Amino acid sequence: MKGFAMLKINEVGWIEKEKPKCGPKDAIVRPLAVSPCTSDVHTVYEGAIGERTNLILGHEAVGQVEEVGSLVKDFKPGDKVIIPAITPDWDAVESQMGFSQHSGGMLCGWKFSNSKDGVFAEFFNVNDADGNMALLPDNVSVEEAVMLSDMVPTGFHGADNAKVAFGETVVVIGIGPVGLMAVAGSNLKGAGRIYAVGSRPICQEAARKYGATDVINYKEGDIVQQIQEANNKKPVDKVIIAGGELETFEQALKLIRPGGIISNINYLGSGDYIKISRLDWGVGMGHIKIIGGLMPGGRKNMEYLSNLLKWKKLDVSILLTHRYKGFEYIEKGLALMKDKPKDLIKPVITI
Ligand code: NAD
Ligand code: ZN
Repeated sequence: MKGFAMLKINEVGWIEKEKPKCGPKDAIVRPLAVSPCTSDVHTVYEGAIGERTNLILGHEAVGQVEEVGSLVKDFKPGDKVIIPAITPDWDAVESQMGFSQHSGGMLCGWKFSNSKDGVFAEFFNVNDADGNMALLPDNVSVEEAVMLSDMVPTGFHGADNAKVAFGETVVVIGIGPVGLMAVAGSNLKGAGRIYAVGSRPICQEAARKYGATDVINYKEGDIVQQIQEANNKKPVDKVIIAGGELETFEQALKLIRPGGIISNINYLGSGDYIKISRLDWGVGMGHIKIIGGLMPGGRKNMEYLSNLLKWKKLDVSILLTHRYKGFEYIEKGLALMKDKPKDLIKPVITI
């Protein structure tokens, strides 16, 4: 079969590989829609997961089941399914402890385009199919549903970990597609005031549509000063980090109230340590929590999130700025994610 792969760090291309085999609990799926991700860019061009040769890329897909293993109960060939980027082993001890993202070890729930071939192929293997796939609702398009693989669950995980509550003031730093879903998730959880920090007009406009009450441009001055001024010098309840650098944590600490939560979903690709200011952290007694998380995968989460599209509570079409038809456009989609032109939020390719 054909696949679009990382040939080595800094090099991508089309390759031929054997069709994946179906284990007893697995499914083999043919993609109907896929989307390249900033994480694919980190993988190829920043060597984020180390050297890989001929690794098929991609982890965001909606597809049609081609084959199921002998132990799969709830899916059959022909079913249209949503597949999360993170596909845990549900019998692992980490899953039993509530951290299925780390089933088998730190971040090991992330398998596609990491420890096994990804979804940019004619066929791909889904482990633990009953536990990881969800049926596509009839009234949701494959293009929109593919945003449920990673963008929606990651942004919403940021809001979940921040324990956003009714009326709270939330800052979302970084409003690419993930940060935009953190804005939307915070809004759905009932946040009162939402500061969205970003510079590109298309993302700022989308942030407002998703519920941001204020937009702060980090290229126009210190965001701490800008937010403190707008917020009458009062600290904020929660900060969600979906972009930026290690220094972003220092800014978040300056903004947060005692007992507040800083929730990171951003991939930290460079530098060694996050600095925690002694004073901003309440000389060690401020009850301020810092948490970082990989999105939760699994069938139930996909079913819950797809309900939001089915019942029109969330409109992901705003994210889909570039739509293509045809397998060969995967290459263009990844190049767009790498170059981030001004008018891009997220590309989607239907096959
Ligand atoms: P993105 O690159 O489109 O968005 C990040 C945005 O942050 C960009 O628009 C960038 O211009 C902006 N930014 C950079 N520096 C900033 C600063 N100092 N202040 C404010 N904004 C700044 O990426 P994305 O697709 O939205 O993903 C965001 C991050 O989430 C990436 O690092 C990605 O790898 C990561 N990610 C994490 C998970 C997870 O499970 N935790 C899943 C998917 C993606
Ligand atoms: Zn992704």
